[in-house]
Amino acid sequence: MKLLIINSGSSSIKYQLLAMEKEAVLASGLVERIGEAMGLIKCTFYPDTPEEHKKSREEPIANHKEGMLKVIDLLCDPKDGIIADTREINGIGHRVVHGGEDFHQPTLITNEVVAAIEKNIPLAPLHNPPNLDGIRVARELFPQAPQVAIFDTAFHQSMPARAFLYALPRELYEKQRVRRYGFHGTSHAYVAAECAKMLGKPLDDCNLVTVHLGNGSSMTAIENGKSVDTSLGMTPLEGLVMGTRCGDVDPALHLFLQQNLGMELPDIDRMLNKESGLKGLCGMNDLRDIHKAVAGGDQWAQHALSVLCYRNRKYLASFLAVLGQVDAIAFTAGIGENDPVVRAESLRGLHNFGIVLDQQLNEARSRTARCISAEASKIKIFVIPTNEELAIARQTARLISG
Ligand code: AMP
Repeated sequence: MKLLIINSGSSSIKYQLLAMEKEAVLASGLVERIGEAMGLIKCTFYPDTPEEHKKSREEPIANHKEGMLKVIDLLCDPKDGIIADTREINGIGHRVVHGGEDFHQPTLITNEVVAAIEKNIPLAPLHNPPNLDGIRVARELFPQAPQVAIFDTAFHQSMPARAFLYALPRELYEKQRVRRYGFHGTSHAYVAAECAKMLGKPLDDCNLVTVHLGNGSSMTAIENGKSVDTSLGMTPLEGLVMGTRCGDVDPALHLFLQQNLGMELPDIDRMLNKESGLKGLCGMNDLRDIHKAVAGGDQWAQHALSVLCYRNRKYLASFLAVLGQVDAIAFTAGIGENDPVVRAESLRGLHNFGIVLDQQLNEARSRTARCISAEASKIKIFVIPTNEELAIARQTARLISG
């Protein structure tokens, strides 16, 4: 079974073609700068040889349909493509950011499903429209292939009301569906399943805290395999300190900024999403640059690192309280997988909670899933590389093969 996984953004399409028998990636790539003067199409083929084969083309790409057609050209190139015909593709999995309360699981896409994703646009005005573009184009260009929507919010639909309700006038929830939804669900679910394998017990018997630290970050409390709380809220802004997003702030901040600085709401929104977080504190949002600056004595880089790790620690301790008993904590994504300093600082001083890191294991570099806790640690600490495309592909395969 060959599946195409599509993550369609406002000016980009990320894609991966997988052969599910061996869960092997056949091709992966990115269409960038859609709608701009010059676009870029990148593709890497992984043929059955040790050599990867990279291709890239620069040309204008007017819209998502044109972008997808160019991807098809590359994949089906008679000279050196990886498939002969698009009819070889047995199914398509689409990443969709917001499923609201309508979607609790992967869903076969029909006209009704498209309408329900459209209905949720007010909850994700930047993400759901380009996700829908990708769906519409793929339904047109691959009419024979069943298409599946995998929602970032779905895994967190198991949260109880005490975790998902904001303490706001209840009409806001009843009429507008203002509540906490959570995101990165595909990553948290994938990492939780891998954690269960490493613990050697069924996922339904596992209590976990999964810590996704990338440019966007979130932490999830998982009880008996199900999400019971997560740090991102109604939008992907709440919770942890992120690359350019602030995470938790006092909700009265908006009023202060408007009254004292004359800022308009769109400016405030841009500031909190694009100019805050690590970047707001020290001008950089890549941890690798921040570590170099810290080594050079940059005080604000040090503040940025400290605020990030302190917030992680606070959330982690609160999720230990949510769960009571925890089998494992798992770090994932760009920072979680690669940054031993952030991991160590985020766990500092938690010995009394049964969390003891093995410094050497923490610092050893590896691309594979591993345990980094000391023998004495009651709670296991894992690093588990996330693989959202594979997670989407597995769910798509499961659904279309019934
Ligand atoms: P992601 O969103 O998961 O791709 O993560 C991107 C972020 O991971 C970057 O902005 C970096 O801050 C961080 N990152 C990636 N590689 C490393 C590394 N080797 N060491 C520290 N941080 C890293």
